[in-house]
Amino acid sequence: MELKVKEIFDSIQGEGPYVGVRQLFIRFCRCNLLCEYCDTDFTYNFEDNSSKIFTPKSLYEFIKKEYNISEFHSVSLTGGEPLLEWNFLQEFLPLLKNDGVKIYLETNATLAKEFYLISDYIDIVSADIKLKSSTGLDTTELHSEFFRNCSKTETFAKIVFDENITDKEIKKCAEFGEKYNIELILQPKMIGNKMSPSAQFCQNLLNKFTKIYPKTRLIPQVHKFLDVR
Ligand code: SF4
Repeated sequence: MELKVKEIFDSIQGEGPYVGVRQLFIRFCRCNLLCEYCDTDFTYNFEDNSSKIFTPKSLYEFIKKEYNISEFHSVSLTGGEPLLEWNFLQEFLPLLKNDGVKIYLETNATLAKEFYLISDYIDIVSADIKLKSSTGLDTTELHSEFFRNCSKTETFAKIVFDENITDKEIKKCAEFGEKYNIELILQPKMIGNKMSPSAQFCQNLLNKFTKIYPKTRLIPQVHKFLDVR
C-alpha cells in the first residue's frame, strides 16, 4: 500500500490546549470538506522535495532515520483529513506505538467509522466543530456520530469562528461539550496573520459560552504569531 504524503516537519503546536509543544507533523494530502476559510495547502506537489510517496513501513523508517523521536511531545497527524487514510494508518501507527510514541490526531470530526477503526492507536484528538456560518456546511449530524466514538480517548473540540457565529450555533456547541464532556476551544478565524473578529467580539463570545458551558477557552492560532508552520 502506497500513499502520497504532503510533508513531514518538525514544528510547534500552535492551536488548542497543547499549544507550545514540539511535534513531528505528518501532513496528509486529501480532505473530504471544502471549508470557505481553509488556508492549508495539502495538495501533493511533485516539484516539492517534502512531498513523497511512502508505504507504512517506509514512512516509519524515514521518520526513525531523520528524527530523534524521543525529543517530540507527540506525532501530529494533520491534513487535509488524516482519517481518509485510515487503512494506511492501521498499518503505520502500530509501528510508532511500539516505540512508545504519542499520537495526536487533528481531524474535522466528520468520519466516525474511520476514527473507530484506528482509535486504539490515538492518544489525543483535536476535533473541529465546523460552524455553518463559517464553512457554509452543516456537519452537525456527522459531528454527533464522531464524538460518540471518542469517549475512550482524550478529546477537545476546536471551534473556528468569526463575527457571523449565531446564538443557535453557540447553544449547539455548548450542548456538544456538555453531552460528550469535552473542553471547547474557541479559535478566532484568521485573515493572514490578523484575527478576523475584534478582540471585544472574542471577549463577549467567551463570556456567552462560559455562562452556559464553563469548560470553554479562547486560544488564537499561536503559530501565526511565532511565524512557524
Ligand atoms: S477540514 Fe480542514 S483541511 Fe479540510 S477544507 Fe476544512 S479547514 Fe481545510
